[in-house]
Amino acid sequence: MTALMPILLAQIEREGPMTIADYMAFCLHHPSHGYYATRDPFGAAGDFTTAPEISQMFGELLGLALAQSWLDQGKPAGLLAELGPGRGTLMADVLRATQNVTGLHEALQLCLVESSPILRRAQSRALDGHKPAFFDQVSDLPEAPLFLLANEFFDALPVRVFQRARSGWDEWRVGASGGQLSMGRSPAGAVPALANAQGEFVELCPAAESISSEIGRRIAQHGGVALIVDYGATESTEPSFQAVQAHQKIDPLSQPGAADLTAHVAFGPILRAAHPAIGFGPVDQREFLARLGIEVRAQQLAAGLTGAALRQHKAALLRLTDPEEMGTLFKVIGLAPPGAAAPPGMEPAP
Ligand code: SAH
Repeated sequence: MTALMPILLAQIEREGPMTIADYMAFCLHHPSHGYYATRDPFGAAGDFTTAPEISQMFGELLGLALAQSWLDQGKPAGLLAELGPGRGTLMADVLRATQNVTGLHEALQLCLVESSPILRRAQSRALDGHKPAFFDQVSDLPEAPLFLLANEFFDALPVRVFQRARSGWDEWRVGASGGQLSMGRSPAGAVPALANAQGEFVELCPAAESISSEIGRRIAQHGGVALIVDYGATESTEPSFQAVQAHQKIDPLSQPGAADLTAHVAFGPILRAAHPAIGFGPVDQREFLARLGIEVRAQQLAAGLTGAALRQHKAALLRLTDPEEMGTLFKVIGLAPPGAAAPPGMEPAP
């Protein structure tokens, strides 16, 4: 029984079953027992491993892509921002890779959007000397040209899950029976986004759309670029809402607060919400990293390695790019102002 379980059961007893979105937010961000609020979940000993934790090449290439957009747009003063920076590894690699881009570090103020106090401390340590400013939400960032990265941030945003009913739609809700959490559903009421929906199940992520809308407005108005990487919607007809613990999928109701809860990211709605910024992609991570020159960078690094370190480096390259690993499941979208150059490695969205 996790520490959060009795708190959830009491809350459901008082107020009735909660939507999946409310359940996700509760489990991930409860101030004293939430998943992100209480731990560093990354790495072999943790629950999952992300691309920047696999290889420095990921952050280096994303950093150089951002730097190219900054040069293309005339080196404006603005923000270098990341959403959900985890351990700070991606941004540390970005800063190292861009240190010889004249003027960039002076022009861009480092801004991190992070909810977890524990991870803020880890990020401060990783970025020691760069003095990051922390923000709770994108809307709190200063109004300025925005050069933004987000890796595996949008998948952590709460989704609502709907299932077609005899007439209209039901919404999945987490209830309680016999001292345990149980999945149920009840009529959804009026949800405009479901009006033209196809299929048996629909997942909506209102937070993703409002964050994207905020980013898109700022980029269109002030300039900048966004590169957003995440695992994308699959062909699956089942909801993608899932829990992962110790690198295994588990029942999402079994370990509230002690397992990561995520859903696949629907890129279409994020791109549409960013209007009037121009959307690019989605491009498979494999293709994107290839266009940015990961093979050349991998060879440079390999030249300085032998033995186990070389084997590990080659395995990391495969993990990032192989279609059986992260290569095609993960995708990249870009946002840029109308009329600006496309972000490196991206082509306009269809
Ligand atoms: N980008 C990192 C970490 C991904 S995990 C990496 O690639 O390794 C998700 C990150 O987003 C964590 O840092 C988590 O604390 C943060 N996060 C999740 N939901 C958030 C929210 N609503 N607001 C701000 N940060 C959030």
